[in-house]
Amino acid sequence: MAKYAAAIDQGTTSTRFMIFDHSGNVVGVDQKEHEQIYPKPGWVEHDPMEIWTRTQEVIEGALRRSGVSPKDIAAVGVTNQRETTIVWEKATGKPVYNAIVWQDTRTDKICNELAADGGQDRFRPKTGLPLATYFSGPKIKWILDNVPGVREKAEKGEVIFGNIDTWVIWNLTGGPQGGVHVTDVSNASRTMLMNLETLDWDDEILGILGIPRAMLPAIRPSSEVYGYAKGLLDGIPVAGDLGDQQAALFGQACYSPGEAKNTYGTGCFMLLNTGTRPVPSKSGLLTTLAYKIGDQPAVYALEGSIAITGALVQWLRDNLKMIESSKDVEPLARTVEDNGGIYFVPAFSGLFAPYWRSDARGVIVGLTRYINRGHIARAALEATAYQTREVLDAMNADSGVPLTALKVDGGMVYNELLMQFQADILGVPVIRPKVAETTSLGAAYAAGMAVGFWTNFDELRANWQVDKVWQPQMRAEERERLYAGWKKAVQRTFGWVE
Ligand code: ADP
Repeated sequence: MAKYAAAIDQGTTSTRFMIFDHSGNVVGVDQKEHEQIYPKPGWVEHDPMEIWTRTQEVIEGALRRSGVSPKDIAAVGVTNQRETTIVWEKATGKPVYNAIVWQDTRTDKICNELAADGGQDRFRPKTGLPLATYFSGPKIKWILDNVPGVREKAEKGEVIFGNIDTWVIWNLTGGPQGGVHVTDVSNASRTMLMNLETLDWDDEILGILGIPRAMLPAIRPSSEVYGYAKGLLDGIPVAGDLGDQQAALFGQACYSPGEAKNTYGTGCFMLLNTGTRPVPSKSGLLTTLAYKIGDQPAVYALEGSIAITGALVQWLRDNLKMIESSKDVEPLARTVEDNGGIYFVPAFSGLFAPYWRSDARGVIVGLTRYINRGHIARAALEATAYQTREVLDAMNADSGVPLTALKVDGGMVYNELLMQFQADILGVPVIRPKVAETTSLGAAYAAGMAVGFWTNFDELRANWQVDKVWQPQMRAEERERLYAGWKKAVQRTFGWVE
């Protein structure tokens, strides 16, 4: 009997391999960063070959450090930074261009042109998404339009597309020597090419964007055996595939309509399980696939995506050299009592939910001579909490049922100052689970369910335990006064670029 389930978590800044036991405890882990490539302002790329190399290294590292034998692993799942787009040659496994990362804004012009005929929401009824640089479809179009010779080969299926899940699974299951070319419904729902009702690529949208169907992966359930690993994990079923945010929802045991989580990483992503029907948003949220388990009906979610939260802390570290490591932002912010009247709106790649404004750029407002590094650090952390409040307000408006508590995870949830301020600004308790590695855990759960390592949601729910709860302490008038200042600051970001 296998004792473990494992997951590859290919994130925006790093790649992890994690091994879990049946109770959801971490028994092995390794993690490696990869290079962020910024060829021009607004462009963000990754090297797909480096990502595959890092993936193999962390698998090797986690196995070695934990002493776990691959034969004790029941199944492996994959979770990934979503929307990031790779096009590669099927015969050689060679990418035709770097991966274009979700944050990359180069498709601005393509999106504006598409919106000129039918508006920003022209594909929303079918896909649940507004036209924005965030999604894969326009990124694929950019590669087809700009990399010589690729379009012809794409039409013949000689070059193929995948998000990072597809790239990793294709390589893991054999690459050019017979790798499977698949994605799952949660990842496919972020391309702007999949129809939410049929769960298939939409021919009308493919036609408008000029994307040949032959280059696209098969859309499969999130939990199902797709193939078997080669190499280090030889013979292990590859049986789970979920976009990172959907994986976190799954790992947080949000299996019932009305359950929600917020993940605090590079960006912040709040997802609310809405059950087996897609719920359209009137408040700037996305309608997206949560997961599909084998033959069971697909489950949908409403999502509030925020582009820059932890990335702002990285920016203070890397660009301003204000801190040495991300966690140093907390002691620096604690050197001051409050934000000193400033707000920092990190609209570095425009604003995502609930605004979807690609013309926005970042601002710090309210500066006086009194302001020091501490205030800037504090305002940077508060920006995460305010942006989350905007998304929560939108969720409450769209679902009609106010959320009474928020489950949280991700790298920033060890920041006590932020978590307390978050509870204060939301006015509801914020809850961190014991295993905060919910993204990897969710992918391992999906894989484990496909092979019978776990058999039902109750088993997974029982694995979920509270680590810490932050209760709101701020007076309501103070909360609303501060939030009004934020709303004013956001207005100052609009219209900065044409
Ligand atoms: P991702 O999966 O998006 O790469 P993680 O969940 O690993 O992100 O979280 C990393 C992010 O969290 C980074 O942007 C980092 O700056 C931020 N971060 C990590 N620790 C802290 C902390 N103690 N305080 C504030 N931000 C933090």
